Amino acid sequence: MNAVTEAIEPHASAIDIDQAARARRDQGESNSKRQVNARIRAAWLICLLLIACIIAAGTAQLSASHRLAIASATERATAKSFLVAEWVAKSFDLPGYVLQDTVKRFRPDELVYPTNNADLHERKTEMIVDKAASVPNLLFLGMLNADCVITHTSIGTNLGLDALERGREYCALAHREPVEDFKVSNMFTAVTKAMNVTASMPLLSPTGKLEGFALAGLDLGFFQQWLDLVELEPHNVIAIFDLNSRLLARKPLVAGQIGQPVEEEKLNALARSGAEALFTHRIVSPVDGIDRIWSLRKIRNLPFIVVVGEETSTALATWRQQLLLYLVGGTVLCLSFIFGAWEYIRNVRDAATMRELATTDPLTGLSNRRHFIEVAEHDLARTQRTAAPLTLILADLDYFKRINDNYGHQTGDRVLRDVASVLNDLSRKSDLIARWGGEEFVILLPGAARAGAMAFAERLRQLIATLESVPGQAVTLSQGLTAYRQGDSLDSLLKRADTALYRAKHRGRDCIDAE
Ligand code: GH3
Ligand code: MG
Ligand code: MG
Repeated sequence: MNAVTEAIEPHASAIDIDQAARARRDQGESNSKRQVNARIRAAWLICLLLIACIIAAGTAQLSASHRLAIASATERATAKSFLVAEWVAKSFDLPGYVLQDTVKRFRPDELVYPTNNADLHERKTEMIVDKAASVPNLLFLGMLNADCVITHTSIGTNLGLDALERGREYCALAHREPVEDFKVSNMFTAVTKAMNVTASMPLLSPTGKLEGFALAGLDLGFFQQWLDLVELEPHNVIAIFDLNSRLLARKPLVAGQIGQPVEEEKLNALARSGAEALFTHRIVSPVDGIDRIWSLRKIRNLPFIVVVGEETSTALATWRQQLLLYLVGGTVLCLSFIFGAWEYIRNVRDAATMRELATTDPLTGLSNRRHFIEVAEHDLARTQRTAAPLTLILADLDYFKRINDNYGHQTGDRVLRDVASVLNDLSRKSDLIARWGGEEFVILLPGAARAGAMAFAERLRQLIATLESVPGQAVTLSQGLTAYRQGDSLDSLLKRADTALYRAKHRGRDCIDAE
């Protein structure tokens, strides 16, 4: 350990409370950049969080209202399909009553053809003609025996026709279990091209055996006539199918589709299912290619399926407006957050730059005189409280004017920067170094007693003397040193240091004087 480092030791060991305090302050100063960066990161993070919140809340809200719009369209379609199904079921009430009444007027032994009682046959036929006239859309009314031979008919043709032999659907239907039911056949196309169905009512023996049945042919044209009268929003659909998935009626009417089977999975599944059933789903219509929310309802005991479709894009019109509003509003909000964060960051950076400009000497990067006074006052106050040692050094470059004059101002500036760099290297975190003005520097060593400070000053003097900022030209430094005395102010310290410096200059420069 050489003499200089030995002499410095007391300075180091005297750093107790003050060093900790200074370390905290210096830590704070070096932390200020980290704090600025942390505030910038926090600003961006908050901005991103807010944007994420907006996106999350908007998406949640939009998907909820989307679900609601689809649900209410489904509900509307379901309610409509119920009303149409009720109407379809009711439209078969009258033929049902007429068939029931017709059956009641026949005994099983009367269901023979050719007849053996022409008189009775004629009266019964007249009765059937009258009844047929009382039902609109009824094409014919007749009686058939258990072998499906037509024994009486309102239209005078087909008497004696053996339906069993001809494989007619209504014959098989009448025999299908349970035989006591009112039954309606699937749609078939008559020679007139009309879409017809047959409705039958059984004539049963007291033991429940099928003795014969009344049969009515009904023209389904009234389905379409009725649908044509229904008020419907554009692009919405009401349709009626039979259990062979053939289209019986549709609003709006699509030319060429009536009577044709429609291949659609749910429709076909529903047609095959036995009981009354309801399906709701969303698909593109296989008939006109429009995306709709559908309610498909199978009517109990009747071979019909009612289908109601609500156009999806109409159902989502309000939702789409909301989506647009959210997109515009969300974008504006997000942009304002980004702008706000950007503006905040700019202010934080500006404030940091201003702080730096206000406290730093631009040439050397050391503290300026103002900042030195501000910080030194605090150190002095702490020294006054704790009675810890404190030393102040004023240092002035010797014959600096000559360097400027001989080598130029820029070389002078370089020397000042090199001196500042030596000061920085030599000082500890607890020391306060500033450019006092011109080619003069001030050094405050809290916690350092006179001996420690002397060692510091000597080391500084030696290092400056080794500087090679100006080739062939030695740079030297004179220093005035003073230690804190009871009752000292910063002013009194500076005055004593200045007096000491003055003496050092007069002693021939490149030396240290203490007061
Ligand atoms: P002494 O040994 O008595 O201190 O002599 P000196 O020449 O150092 O002192 P003097 O006060 O006569 O001159 C100081 C010179 O420092 C004058 C000025 O031009 C120069 N100076 C002050 N500030 C700056 C600066 O920022 N850059 C440069 N290059 N020179 C400066
Ligand atoms: Mg000077
Ligand atoms: Mg000088």
